[in-house]
Formats: sequence, C-alpha cells, structure tokens
Amino acid sequence: MNTGPNAPRWNILRKALARWYASAKRDLPWRRTSEPYPVWVSEIMLQQTRVAAALPYYERFLQRFPTVESLAGAPEQELLAVWSGLGYYSRARNLQKAARQIVAAGGFPRTYEGLRELAGIGDYTAAAVASISFGLAHAVLDGNVMRVLTRLMAEPGDIQSPKTRARLAAVAREFLDQRAPAEHNQAVMELGALVCLPREPQCLLCPLAGECRARREGRAAEFPVKLRKQKKVEVDLALLVVEREGRVLVWQRGAEEGRMAGFWELPARQQLPGARELAEAGSFRHVITHHQHTVRVFRAVAKRVPAGYHWRDRKELREIPLSTIARKALRMAGVD
Ligand code: SF4
Repeated sequence: MNTGPNAPRWNILRKALARWYASAKRDLPWRRTSEPYPVWVSEIMLQQTRVAAALPYYERFLQRFPTVESLAGAPEQELLAVWSGLGYYSRARNLQKAARQIVAAGGFPRTYEGLRELAGIGDYTAAAVASISFGLAHAVLDGNVMRVLTRLMAEPGDIQSPKTRARLAAVAREFLDQRAPAEHNQAVMELGALVCLPREPQCLLCPLAGECRARREGRAAEFPVKLRKQKKVEVDLALLVVEREGRVLVWQRGAEEGRMAGFWELPARQQLPGARELAEAGSFRHVITHHQHTVRVFRAVAKRVPAGYHWRDRKELREIPLSTIARKALRMAGVD
C-alpha cells in the first residue's frame, strides 16, 4: 500500500479520472457492448495493433464469425485470410483454439482464473474481459497503463523487470475502482492512449496532473524507465510481382514455418534467379518486432517457374491469407 506523504490520494484520482473518461472517451464499436465474445476479440486485436488499424478488421471479423461457435468451426485458411494484414498471426490461431475450448466447455468462463486457462489469454486479457464483461474487480496492466502509473508514481525501476511489474500491478490494484472496474480500466487505458502519450504527455489536459509525481518534478519524459533496449535488425528484401495473363505468382509457407505457417508470399529475387525484372514499383518499410524490413518491389516476368509456385488471380488473392508484406507489395504494384 502507498501510504507515505507522497502517496496519491486515490479517491480523488478515481473520481477525476471517471469524470474525464465520461466526456473524453472515443466511441468505439467494442465499447457499445459488454458481451464477452466481441470484447475478447477486440482485446486480442488491439494487442500490437493501433485502434485505427484494428477497426475495419474488427467489423469484418465479426461479420464473418458472428459467434464463438462460428469461429470454432471455421477453416484455418479462412480465418487467416480475414486476419491477413493484421500481423502476429498466432493471435488468430489462439483465438480459434480458445473458441474451441469455450464451445467444448459449453460457454465462456465467468472468472478471471477460468479466462486465464484459455489459449492466448494472459493476465492482461483475462483482467480486461473479467472486468468489462463480468464486472469483476481485476486491474489491467498494459503498455498504456504502465506508462501512466510509472509517471504517476515516478517509478524508478526498469519497466522490463519482474519486480517493477509486480510493484506496478500492486499500484494498479490500489488505484482500481472496485465499484466500477470496467469503466475504470478502460479510462486508464484511454488516458494513456490520448493524454499521457509516450513522447509528449499532455499534462495540461490530464485529470491526474495534481497528484502526478513525474509532472510535479518536471520529469514525465523520463518514465517509464527502459534499461535494456533490443537491438534493431535491418533486413533488405526484394520482392517480385510476376504476372501472367492476369494472374500473379505466389508460394505458400509450410507447416514448419511456425507462426507464419499457411501464409502466402511473393517470391523474393533470389528464389527466382531466371526472372527478368521490368521496373521497380516502389519500396516501403515494415517493422516486425525488432526486425526493420526495407522492401523493394519489382514487376517481373518469368518464363520457367520452379515447382511449388502457384498462379492466382486477383479474386483468389483476396481470399487466401497473404502475409502483410506480400499484401503491401501487391498494393504498391497496383495488384490488389
Ligand atoms: Fe501523464 Fe502528465 Fe498526466 Fe502525469 S500529469 S499522468 S505525466 S499526462
């Protein structure tokens, strides 16, 4: 418990935060329901994906799989096609695994511990669904919340260390509004997304400003503390868009490819040494965790094609799960 002279006055903060959230929150489709299925889908999508990018996927996903039963019974290729472009595909596979667990159990678990047993559901998602759908008093701790709390407390520990995480989890529990955990959790996350921004916190607009230690000490930008920075790896890639009679050459990753198994790709330059490059369509950057890809896209023709490649027309390309890089490259070449 934070009971020292510098301890925040939680009651005042809870009320200020609730008032701010009531007037400032964004109207997002998953906030119009407390049903566990759409709440869970949105929480999984929003991990590693920005709200604006997730929105169209969320709508499309629920249109295609409106119930947990329809998700449980969907062919994997169809599931991955709907998820294609969102990245981090283990999320989609785990959603389906968990959907099957839920169907087998006869319904959604209604406790934090029960939710935690489902595939792909960690502490954060279990707390989010438990509070938003079932009104249970579990505090969420995601990147946004940690940023707010480390600044509020001027937490000096490395954000990646388990000890710091445990301290922040305790702060989050103390801060939690036990009577309105759903609104409270969403309010802290929203504050992190809209006001307590990573680079330029908008302290003048912040309902917690009066009790925030980092602000008081003029050190907001110093938190959260990250001691170990993962080294960035640069990857250069040249992809070929080879067309023949309105169809494009693609190949599919095999079962041994882990999280990308089953996805379709464009050939890279070194895979088709006999191809003739016609023109460069452009280039783009794509980041996957700490890998920074620079992708150059070339239109090309190929007389002979090795075994294992397939020709697909535009309609088929829309229906198979393409990797995000392949999808971006096709768009760049005007094929989508
Ligand atoms: Fe973040 Fe500033 Fe609010 Fe503190 S006062 S929580 S640093 S936005």
